[in-house]
Amino acid sequence: MKHLSFEQGPIRPPSEARSLLMRVTRNCNWNQCIFCTTYRGNHNFERRTVDEVKADIDTVVEIINEAKTLSWKMGLSGEISGELAQRFFDQPGLDYSFLSVIAWLYYGTQAVFLQDANNIILKADDLAQMLDYLNQKIPGISRITTYARSQTAARKSLEDLQKIREAGLSRVHIGLETGYDPLLKYMKKGVNAEAHIIGGRKIIEAGMELSEYYMPGLGGSAMWKEHAIETARVLNAINPHFIRLRTLHVGKTLPLYQRLESGEFELRTPSETVEEIRLLVENLDGITSRMVSDHIGNLLQDVEGKFPEDKGRILEAIDRYLALNEEEQLHYQVGRVMGLYNGVTDMSKPGLSYRVNETVKKLKAKYDGQTQDILIGLHDQLMR
Ligand code: SF4
Repeated sequence: MKHLSFEQGPIRPPSEARSLLMRVTRNCNWNQCIFCTTYRGNHNFERRTVDEVKADIDTVVEIINEAKTLSWKMGLSGEISGELAQRFFDQPGLDYSFLSVIAWLYYGTQAVFLQDANNIILKADDLAQMLDYLNQKIPGISRITTYARSQTAARKSLEDLQKIREAGLSRVHIGLETGYDPLLKYMKKGVNAEAHIIGGRKIIEAGMELSEYYMPGLGGSAMWKEHAIETARVLNAINPHFIRLRTLHVGKTLPLYQRLESGEFELRTPSETVEEIRLLVENLDGITSRMVSDHIGNLLQDVEGKFPEDKGRILEAIDRYLALNEEEQLHYQVGRVMGLYNGVTDMSKPGLSYRVNETVKKLKAKYDGQTQDILIGLHDQLMR
C-alpha cells in the first residue's frame, strides 16, 4: 500500500467533524485576537498555490481509489464498511491525512471543509479554480464550507463572492464573537460592528449559507450587558442562517490570560454567562436563524432552535438552568463535565443522576464541601 499524504490544517468547526479537511491557505492573516492562539508562534500566513491544492486533490483521489479497489476485492461493491476502514487503521505508518479520507468515506457525508482561517482572502479566480477542480475530480460533494473573516468579506466585491459561490463554496463560518465595538477593539478582533454587518450580508447576498459564532463570556464583568445587546443588534441586522455558541475559555497561553491575572479582565461565572445568553436571546428579533450550541465547552447544549418559532423554547431551556439553586447547579455542571447531561431535563433521568450524585459526593470530600471551589474546577475541566 502506498504511503500517501496531503496537507491539512489544525482546526475545523464542530459541525465539520465528519467533513474532508483540505488546506488552501496556511494560518491566519490577522492573527492578533487576544483570545486566540490557534496560529500563534512561527505560523506566518501563506496562500497555497492553485497547483499545490490541485496536487493534494489528486492525492485524495488516489486514496479514494485505493480504498474502493480493496472494497471491490472484499466483495463490498465499492462500499467502505467499518471492517474495511479498520483494516486501514490497523496498517502501521499510514499518515493521519490518509486515514482521514478513509473515515470520511466511511461516514459518507460527502462534505468538504477548506482550511485555514480566511480563505476568501485568495483571489476569487484562484479559489474558484480550486473549487472547480475539487468538484470535477470528486463528484457528488454535498457541500463545501470554510472559515472567513467578516473584514475580508466586507471588502470583497459581490461579484467575486458570487464567482466563489458558483464554483461551489456553499457555507461560510465567521467568528463574529461580539457586536460591541469597544469589546471588538479590546479583544483586537480587527473588525467593527459595521463591517461585521456588511461582510455577513454580502456572504448571504452572494448565495452562501452563513454561520456566525457568538462567544458567551467575552465581555467579562465590565462589558457583558453591552456584549449581549449589541451582538443581538448585529445578528438581527445580518440574519445569518446559523448562530453558533462557543463559550470563552481563557487558557494560560492566551494574551487575555495576562489581563485576567492582572485583574484588568474579570470573568463571569458559568451561571452569570447563562444570564448573558438569555439577554442576547431576548434581544434577537425579526430573524429566521437557527441557534446551535454545538461546542463541547458550552454549559447548555439544548439552547437550540429556529427563530422566531423556537425563541420561547430556547428561553425555557435557559430558565430551567437559572431556576436551579447552587447545589443543583453543581450537580448539573458535574453531569455536564461527565458528558451525561446536555440540558437540565437530563437531571430527571434516574440512571444518570445516580452516577452524578456519586461523583458529587467524592468531589465534596475532595474540596471539603466548598461548592464554589468545585464549580471553578469543573468549569476549567469542561473547557479543556
Ligand atoms: S481572526 Fe480568527 S483565527 Fe485569526 S486570530 Fe482572530 S480568532 Fe484567531
